[in-house]
Amino acid sequence: MPEVFDVAIVGYGPTGAGLANLLGQAGLAVAVFEREAAIHPLPRAIHFDGEVMRVFQSMGLKAQVETVSRPGMKGMEFVNASGRTLLVRGGTSLNGPHGCANNHYFHQPDLEAVLRTGAERFASVHVFGRHEVAAIEQEKDAAHLSVRNLADGSRTQFRARYVVGCDGARSLVRRLMGSPMYDLGLHQPWLVFDAILKRAADLPDHTVQYCDPSRPATYCHVLGNRRRWEIMLMPGDDPATIAQPDSVWKLVSRWIGPDDADIERAVVYTFHSVIARGWRRGRMLLAGDAAHQTPPFLGQGLCAGIRDIANLAWKLELVLAGRAADTLLDTYETERAPHVREFIALAVKLGDVIQTTDPVVAAQRDSRFQTGAPEIFEFPAPGLGPGLHTGAGAGTGQPFPQPALADGRLLDAVTGRNFALIARRSLLGELDGPTRARLTRANAVCVDDRSPAIAAWLDSQAAAAALVRPDRYVLGTAGDAPGVARLADRLPHSAAETLAA
Ligand SMILES: Cc1cc2nc3c(=O)[nH]c(=O)nc-3n(C[C@H](O)[C@H](O)[C@H](O)COP(=O)(O)OP(=O)(O)OC[C@H]3O[C@@H](n4cnc5c(N)ncnc54)[C@H](O)[C@@H]3O)c2cc1C
Repeated sequence: MPEVFDVAIVGYGPTGAGLANLLGQAGLAVAVFEREAAIHPLPRAIHFDGEVMRVFQSMGLKAQVETVSRPGMKGMEFVNASGRTLLVRGGTSLNGPHGCANNHYFHQPDLEAVLRTGAERFASVHVFGRHEVAAIEQEKDAAHLSVRNLADGSRTQFRARYVVGCDGARSLVRRLMGSPMYDLGLHQPWLVFDAILKRAADLPDHTVQYCDPSRPATYCHVLGNRRRWEIMLMPGDDPATIAQPDSVWKLVSRWIGPDDADIERAVVYTFHSVIARGWRRGRMLLAGDAAHQTPPFLGQGLCAGIRDIANLAWKLELVLAGRAADTLLDTYETERAPHVREFIALAVKLGDVIQTTDPVVAAQRDSRFQTGAPEIFEFPAPGLGPGLHTGAGAGTGQPFPQPALADGRLLDAVTGRNFALIARRSLLGELDGPTRARLTRANAVCVDDRSPAIAAWLDSQAAAAALVRPDRYVLGTAGDAPGVARLADRLPHSAAETLAA
């Protein structure tokens, strides 16, 4: 075991396990501390999107994740108390821009098992179960973690160059960093009820938001015979008794009863909408629920955590290898926080549509939506906030799509988790020596435009080339070879390279 780990991860939920995969793949020495003995057995998240599947693909786990999830071809409907559809998030059976379905449904403990098995492929990843991080001090050389072994009560000191708090909503790391939470205003208790069907039931096979002011509720077809209801608590409900079987069956009686299904669990959660200010303090960083929480109306909380680690992992890798200045890590929050905030803001807005309990306000809402066909909405596709890509051309800060190439391989299978220059074929031949050398030093892979989807993307941005980051976001676009040379200068580089230049 190393005396000083490259990265200590606090928390082995989906965010921590995902990060351990990405850092393990890079060969970094990683310590993961998790206070619990086993994976949290109850499902919380049930949906992730195509971009998140692409991150799992980058971990080498797409096939394994496919065995524990199903693609969701149908969208989501918002219906009012009289059953009329107000709002629709469209579905499609086609692959989306990330080279897979846009939506996937799953059972969270099974997904976490896949992520943990994946992380444990790497000899450099050391997992300490039943170990609780109790304190962290930042010293000049490293962060010092005081860790309690909950099996025998002993305490051990560990050192790591960086610590990432993936320790969930009540994050100790966030508290130690002194990062306050910015509140987007929604805090509402809901009963979450998971059922295992025992026989066929006449239920929708897509997600339905029941915007009924007398009892707002969400229904979702999860996977196999699993079904989820989320039911809002109304004034006068007793949170202590509402999750009792009698009460639960009464609440879902319009859909199913105890002859149809078994209760897997029924628990009251309070949905929050908060985002931390200060995702990095020196050697300490935050990711996942430790950095932000959203009401689950869009199914995006876990997704945001996976996007965090995709943004952070390659930056940590470059900084730890001395291939980029430590200030690269400052772009993590500036890029990610505005992005996640947009998702949370939309979830809060949808919460206003779903959670209305005043019949007069609900009637006004219905008449607003009922002027024509149901309104269609999509997941937001915000760009990253200010960061490495700022001012580097059209289309930057957005994910580059993942088309199949002429030989049938998906783009990321060719680029790996490297920088990639994706360019018109003619332009690649025009690059000068220093630009080529710069790209080679950054391990950038060059891909030409033989795929029609790549040519179409470049056309859409009126560009001849795109420089894509290891997390598949566009770092910059250019129209000609001198433009590519300027882009190549934006590649992160070490202090030694700066001196040599
Ligand atoms: C009802 C509900 C429905 C949801 N639906 C969706 C959905 O459909 N899609 C979606 O994307 N998201 C959804 N979410 C959100 C999603 O479940 C969370 O965002 C996700 O689980 C957060 O993962 P995490 O790894 O960041 O945190 P957690 O899963 O909370 O993991 C944190 C881990 O850190 C450990 N830990 C904490 N402190 C310490 C310490 N000091 N030392 C050691 N270990 C520690 C904990 O034991 C825990 O294992 C939903 C949430 C709820 C409640």
